Amino acid sequence: MSLEREQLNELHWLMEMLHTIDVGLVVLDRQYKIQIWNGFMENHSGLLPREVKNELIFDLFEEIPKEWFIRKSESVFALKNKAFTIWEQRPYLFRFQNYRPITGTADYMYQNTTFIPLMSSTGEVTHLCLIVYDVTDNAVHKLDLERANQELALLSQTDGLTRLFNREHWERCMQAEYKRWSRSNHASSLVMIDIDHFKKVNDSYGHMAGDDVIRDISRLIRQHVRETDVSGRYGGEEFAILLADTDLDNAQIFAERLRQEVEKSVVTHNDIEIKYQVSMGIAEVDPSIKNYEAWIECADAALYRSKQTGRNKISCHPKQG
Ligand code: GH3
Ligand code: MG
Ligand code: MG
Repeated sequence: MSLEREQLNELHWLMEMLHTIDVGLVVLDRQYKIQIWNGFMENHSGLLPREVKNELIFDLFEEIPKEWFIRKSESVFALKNKAFTIWEQRPYLFRFQNYRPITGTADYMYQNTTFIPLMSSTGEVTHLCLIVYDVTDNAVHKLDLERANQELALLSQTDGLTRLFNREHWERCMQAEYKRWSRSNHASSLVMIDIDHFKKVNDSYGHMAGDDVIRDISRLIRQHVRETDVSGRYGGEEFAILLADTDLDNAQIFAERLRQEVEKSVVTHNDIEIKYQVSMGIAEVDPSIKNYEAWIECADAALYRSKQTGRNKISCHPKQG
């Protein structure tokens, strides 16, 4: 075989490989008109090389943000350096559908793209090559993992029975709120709640019925708090609600409304109707309270007074300073 023929063959193979390789190859000229379009691009866009030849890339693919793309490409032309864009920054350059069987949950193909300057024999960068990698599998797995981690984090903060924050997480929020208060001195109140004579519920109707009562008060708490409030299950049948930006008077209004709702509520368990009541203690944070633990103690002492003086009522820690 002559040398010329051999070289021609190699060139032919090279072209064949570029055409069939499983990454997108696009060559653009200085005006952003498409010059080369390989098989990957053809298959995913449905556009043949002859249909895109000499077309402005922005005219065919409106999803490409023109200003951003030109800024990026111009620096490649000027600096003669490669540039990259990854799916975390921009999920895709070309909006291609995702046909992958395993990661079929993704609506589109996630892409990483490399911009390569193509130099002419005179050393001038006259063209730009885009290499488009399909990274859908990676992206979907990473996103799934992130989602699972978020769910896990949420789960580790939440109490299973009530879906309120568990004590550990609630106390962390309480600590943060105390710190926030010591910087800004905005009003903030804590309400502690304990179900009255709960042992009787368990003893008379069983533990499962008791659980239903706990679920019921949690539902009422969730219904009555605002999004910025932080509600937690403090103990078995004890609850704590941090009312952000709320002074003692308003906390009392909130607590009284909740107390009345509890009083009205009827829990049905195995056709038995159960009514229950709660006692509450409220403490608005003030300068005499030196840390978040002391704040909890003030609300707890107020709750204890409610229990001592008849139950089904609200007591307040007197605000100082
Ligand atoms: P008081 O009015 O003084 O609060 O009386 P009480 O009977 O409610 O007394 P206490 O607050 O000490 O009651 C706690 C009881 O709550 C004891 C425990 O068996 C029950 N308990 C704690 N956690 C759970 C739970 O998850 N489910 C059920 N069913 N019962 C629980
Ligand atoms: Mg208790
Ligand atoms: Mg109780």
